Amino acid sequence: MSTRPSRDEISALARKAGLRLTPQRLAVLETLLDSCDHPTAALICERTRQHVPGISRATVYNALDSLNEAGLINRLHFDHDSSRYCPNLVPHVHLLNESTGEVTDIHLKAGLRAEDVFDLPEGICITNMEACLRGHFSAKTTTSAT
Ligand SMILES: [Zn+2]
Repeated sequence: MSTRPSRDEISALARKAGLRLTPQRLAVLETLLDSCDHPTAALICERTRQHVPGISRATVYNALDSLNEAGLINRLHFDHDSSRYCPNLVPHVHLLNESTGEVTDIHLKAGLRAEDVFDLPEGICITNMEACLRGHFSAKTTTSAT
């Protein structure tokens, strides 16, 4: 499953939200789309400067705010740590590895909807999913085929 929105999808979402995709916003968005590690704003700023050397920290942070408000990206909060960002617009939850701090996108199994997984109140229509699963990866155990 591709979780990276196409240029057409991005343009359509921006248009729908009334957001003008300035070169700076596009540069920040492209940086995030190329990142699969749910980076912090500081990291996005650092990575964006590799393509756009003069871009200011304030411009990057403002672009992240605008893109988040327009629904083109998602801002994530984990406890008191810095916000992190996710460009994946396919409904999913996040898995936080408490040992490493690594955040991974977890999608519903094929064919399932949130309504199929959670015991929801009758009549609710799910429009967005924000959930975080936390855990530690245990050492893999090998099973012998005897
Ligand atoms: Zn995500």
